[in-house]
Amino acid sequence: MTCPFLAYRSEANDRQFDEPRAYCEAAEQFVQPMRADICNDRYDLSHDEHCEIYLEHADEVPAGTETGDETENAGQSAGDDA
Ligand code: SF4
Repeated sequence: MTCPFLAYRSEANDRQFDEPRAYCEAAEQFVQPMRADICNDRYDLSHDEHCEIYLEHADEVPAGTETGDETENAGQSAGDDA
């Protein structure tokens, strides 16, 4: 799962690019390339463990964007146990 604050924009804050780039809605700035692996939960990285920006803004995550998949998975697991 990617971070719910991750978006792709080609312009923001007086900066423009030809191709959309990773943009952090929480920090309101483009994501530094080194941080993109955290935003996308690549390798052993996780936005909800390794990003200080996410942790500062975790209470602002729009409802349903962070737990939607987990709720579905939990329902399937409960069914398997029955
Ligand atoms: S992981 Fe951090 S930097 Fe990346 S989009 Fe989420 S809050 Fe922003």
